Amino acid sequence: MKRKKFFKLTPLLIAVTFACSTLLTACTLTKPTQKTTKTKTTVAKKEKPLPKDPNPTNIPVLMYHSIAYEKGNDLRIPQKIFREQMDIIKHDGFTPITLDELYSHFNDEVKLPPKPIVITLDDGYKDNYENALPVLKEFGFKATVFVITCQTDDSTDYMTSKQLKEMQANGIDIECHTVTHPHLKDLSYDKQLVELRDSKAKLEKMLNKKINYIAYPYGSYNDDTVKLVQNLGYKMAFTTNEGQANKTQGMFTLDRMYISNANDVAYFQRQINGEIK
Ligand SMILES: [Zn+2]
Repeated sequence: MKRKKFFKLTPLLIAVTFACSTLLTACTLTKPTQKTTKTKTTVAKKEKPLPKDPNPTNIPVLMYHSIAYEKGNDLRIPQKIFREQMDIIKHDGFTPITLDELYSHFNDEVKLPPKPIVITLDDGYKDNYENALPVLKEFGFKATVFVITCQTDDSTDYMTSKQLKEMQANGIDIECHTVTHPHLKDLSYDKQLVELRDSKAKLEKMLNKKINYIAYPYGSYNDDTVKLVQNLGYKMAFTTNEGQANKTQGMFTLDRMYISNANDVAYFQRQINGEIK
């Protein structure tokens, strides 16, 4: 069992590292922005508060990247497979939730819908707009995209600011994945600060909302990273450590589950149901 898992996971992690680094192109850092972002005011709805959940549970946070086919690249999930996976999520009774809902649950122990699940997509590939959005709309599912901000409006492989705004208008949450997608743990404190601060500021200005969540590129972080994200006002941060998210992992080092095209749909079903240990 252990041996099988090793064989399953090791090539996947290599694939994440390799594919991420080959898909990226070089970018330059943006200048720090001094502007503060206006927060949208919304009319408070009269809603009954959800009952408190005394037993916060493990919650699967799925980690996707590109939704497109590429031979030999397990990081990319073809749209057909993505739709089959969304269908399993629906038929197994899961409810996709936002990161705000996950945060409330972890912090206030607010009760979530039955079988909550979080769908995240890293990097902000253009195919998320072309191939993932139509499927997510079809199922009425909530999802989060973690964006590399230096790629926005600078590369044909990544979503433009216009597309990001359209994703947001369709209920897809846009959050942060640094400016240039570095291995954060290899950077000095000051360089990490620029990566974590400028990406947040750029997205806040572009999308006119607060950016509260971040995914660490390659799952790379150290003590400085955790200190910085807290000081910069992020509320949760995600790694690539394999597993379901639980607040006992720490709000700035939460686990996710890597979805690879090397595995079949039956494996995906066992994965989200917590049957892969
Ligand atoms: Zn990434």
